[in-house]
Amino acid sequence: AKEKGRNDFQIFNSDMKSISINRIKLENELRKALTNDEFTLYYQPQVDIESGRIVGTEALIRWNHPERGLVPPNQFIPFAEETGLIVPIGEWVLRAACKQNKAWQEQGFPAMPISVNLSMRQFFQHNLKGKISYVLEQTGLAPQYLELEITESMTMDVDHAIQSLLELKDLGVNVSIDDFGTGYSSLYFLKKFPIDKLKIDRSFVRDIMTDPNDAAIVATIIAMTHHLNLKVIAEGVETEDQLRFLHQNRCNEVQGYWFSPPVDARQMEVMLVGG
Ligand code: C2E
Ligand code: CA
Ligand code: CA
Ligand code: CA
Repeated sequence: AKEKGRNDFQIFNSDMKSISINRIKLENELRKALTNDEFTLYYQPQVDIESGRIVGTEALIRWNHPERGLVPPNQFIPFAEETGLIVPIGEWVLRAACKQNKAWQEQGFPAMPISVNLSMRQFFQHNLKGKISYVLEQTGLAPQYLELEITESMTMDVDHAIQSLLELKDLGVNVSIDDFGTGYSSLYFLKKFPIDKLKIDRSFVRDIMTDPNDAAIVATIIAMTHHLNLKVIAEGVETEDQLRFLHQNRCNEVQGYWFSPPVDARQMEVMLVGG
């Protein structure tokens, strides 16, 4: 038993070491990625269910890694969030998204909001309003063409969240609640918080055709948003059946592979031309 204990300790020890080396390496690589401009944005259309027209886009970060190729956000965003690097990365995303949206408007594409995911740290940072208004000023994008996506977990500190949301409202940007239904979800905040839109999480949409509970939940969320005068978008829509269900239940907008996966700016422009 003694022998085993020692081995366990050594294994634990060497694991800890390799984990911390990887972490330091990743942190350095992320810093370098910022200075070397290795991040890029993909865009996924948000489609009005009634007209079939694109009425918005969500900006989603990718890391164009020199050796590993295009790295998806779930492989580095949680780590960036932990270390605080999400703040400069998030600022880069915000600026790049606003700049792109302004450029599209100047090129004559129909004006529409661009959605940007805000991390917890960004949402609670000091002078959030000042930072966002600075980016809007720099890029020349009007505030109504920016939508910020926050998650339910960010609303747990109710007072702080209300204060941040009021600042954003004051600025004139839109706010939506991402992944709605998966987090700490209080009906209290829906009533109390100045938000514009709910995004029904993909996990509910996925099974609406096969799971009556999920169908009931989605139908109920949609009905509730109408009563509260909020807009509602369903994410992760992959099939025509799902689309039909959402249409019948009067969902406003859809986003998902059924229409398009996230694509680069050039491909997005092709879709914008096509309507
Ligand atoms: P999210 O905000 O919920 O973004 C939607 C994710 O669902 C995207 O994954 C998108 O590619 C994927 N998706 C869209 N339609 C479908 C569909 O029909 N079926 C399926 N199976 N998936 C679909 P992605 O781009 O890999 O992003 C993953 C997550 O990373 C995002 O989830 C978001 O939480 C985070 N993220 C992405 N970009 C940023 C960013 O700039 N800042 C922050 N803080 N987080 C970001
Ligand atoms: Ca999102
Ligand atoms: Ca989402
Ligand atoms: Ca999600």
